[in-house]
Amino acid sequence: MRIRSSGMVYAVDWTPGEVLDELAEDRFVGRTVHMENRIVISSRAPEGRQRQALIHELVHVVDDGYKVGLTEKQVSRFSRGLFALLMDNPDAVRYVVAGKRPKKKKHG
Ligand SMILES: [Zn+2]
Repeated sequence: MRIRSSGMVYAVDWTPGEVLDELAEDRFVGRTVHMENRIVISSRAPEGRQRQALIHELVHVVDDGYKVGLTEKQVSRFSRGLFALLMDNPDAVRYVVAGKRPKKKKHG
């Protein structure tokens, strides 16, 4: 999978191993390696956690590309809220992504 954001292209790779930081001191479900334009997700984690991790890393990518200046805590909370919002509103996601307005449901 490739992610385009602010003129950059990031490769998303899944690894069966652990996702570690540079010093191999911390493990993560996902991590963005900005220097390599790469997002790595651990396929060891439960599937739902992998998807949450991707959204988390995408927020990092937007934060970095648009120089927002979010803290890790802000990325963490915002991405959790965004993930829940996307999951709870598939019609709105379809509309934003594809311009497809949902058909009005008849009452009763
Ligand atoms: Zn993070």
